[in-house]
Amino acid sequence: MKFKVLILLLWVIFIFTLVVAQGAAPQFIVEGSTTYERNRIIRLEQSLNFTQEPMPEGWETTIWPQDQFEKYVRDHNTPTGIAFTFLGLDHTYINEYFLIWANDQQVRFVLAHEAGHMICECHSEDKADAIARVLTGEDRPPLER
Ligand SMILES: [Zn+2]
Repeated sequence: MKFKVLILLLWVIFIFTLVVAQGAAPQFIVEGSTTYERNRIIRLEQSLNFTQEPMPEGWETTIWPQDQFEKYVRDHNTPTGIAFTFLGLDHTYINEYFLIWANDQQVRFVLAHEAGHMICECHSEDKADAIARVLTGEDRPPLER
């Protein structure tokens, strides 16, 4: 009898652990580059206003070094020097070189734009920009240095 209670207790702990682990699962993951740039991306993502648009679940972002990023977009005919997102995977890739010269306002809008693609589940640049304007509360800042 005591053994059954122990098994039941272990099950309760096991289920509780699963629920807590699920609740604590990270919503936004950033990989690559330096701690400074990763923290910057997290800070800028957290500053976006997701009250009117749903935040993408399990959004993953990878910062690629310039040469790796540019080789990929050249080989896959992806016309961007800044960032692109795989919609089904909710995975964004960012060119580290862009992070080096862009200011926070520019990086923040690019993150919002990529989130916009995931939210509309579309490749439309206009729709992604429209959602980015809602998330940032501002227009796309000029990207010229
Ligand atoms: Zn876009």
